[in-house]
Amino acid sequence: MTQIKRKGAGGAMAVTQGHGNPKWTRDETLLALNLYQRLRGQVPGSNDSEVIALSQRLRALPVHQGAAKRDSFRNPDGVAFKLQNIRQVATGRGLGNVSALDKAIWQEFGERPELVQRLVDAIGAAVERGEADEMNVAAIDDDEVFAEGRVLTALHRTRERNRKVRGLLLDERQQTGTLHCDCCGAGPKASNLELALAGFEAHHVTPLAESTSGGTRLTDLALLCATCHRLIHRAMHVHKRWIGVAELKAFIESPA
Ligand SMILES: [Zn+2]
Ligand SMILES: [Zn+2]
Repeated sequence: MTQIKRKGAGGAMAVTQGHGNPKWTRDETLLALNLYQRLRGQVPGSNDSEVIALSQRLRALPVHQGAAKRDSFRNPDGVAFKLQNIRQVATGRGLGNVSALDKAIWQEFGERPELVQRLVDAIGAAVERGEADEMNVAAIDDDEVFAEGRVLTALHRTRERNRKVRGLLLDERQQTGTLHCDCCGAGPKASNLELALAGFEAHHVTPLAESTSGGTRLTDLALLCATCHRLIHRAMHVHKRWIGVAELKAFIESPA
C-alpha cells in the first residue's frame, strides 16, 4: 500500500490525496478552477487562507453522500494538490496526477473565468437556498449531468418538476390554446385531459450560470413534449454546454 505523505504547514512537497476519497466532480473542479483563476495561476500551500476556505466549502458541498465525514476528504492538502494539477493542465508543466476531468474542465472553462465565477456563485446560491440538497443531487444520474455539474443540474430538475409551477404552466397553455410542444409542435396525444397533460413537461429555460436568484416564473419555463425534453437534456450533456429550445429545434429540423 502506498504511503500517504503528510507535511505540515509550509511543506515543500505536494501531498497525495487520502485513499478512499471519492473522485472530484465537475462542480468541485469548477470551484478549484475558480480559485486558480482568481489567484491568476499562483498556487498557494495548504496553510493559505483561501485554500482552507475552499476546503471548507468543498466539504459542505452536497455532492458526495456522507463522504465529508472522513477527515482527509477535500482537506487543504488535497485542495492544494488539485490546484497544482490544474496548473499542470493550464501550463503543461509539473508532475501532478492529472485526471481526464481536469483536462476536460480546463478545455471547457479554462479561458472563461467570468463564466466560472458566475457558475460558482450560482452553485453557492443553490446550496444556500436549499434548492440542491444531498438527496436531489444524488438523484441525478451520471449520464444526465450538465457541464455545469451535479448541483446546478439538480437545481434545474427541482425547479421544473415543481408541481405547482408545472400546473400553472399547463393551465395557462390550456387557456390560451397553446397546449403544444415549444420545440417540435406536437399537440396532446390523448383526448382524456389527464393523459393529454401527462405527455408534457416543463423545461427551465434560464441558463444555469444565470440562476443565482430564487423562484421560478412562468416566463422561465418552456413546455416540451417528453421526447424533446429528453433530447434537450441529452444534447446539453453531450455538447457540454447550455442549449436553448430554438437551437434544439434547429437540430431536429436539420439533423446532421
Ligand atoms: Zn416535442
Ligand atoms: Zn429541463
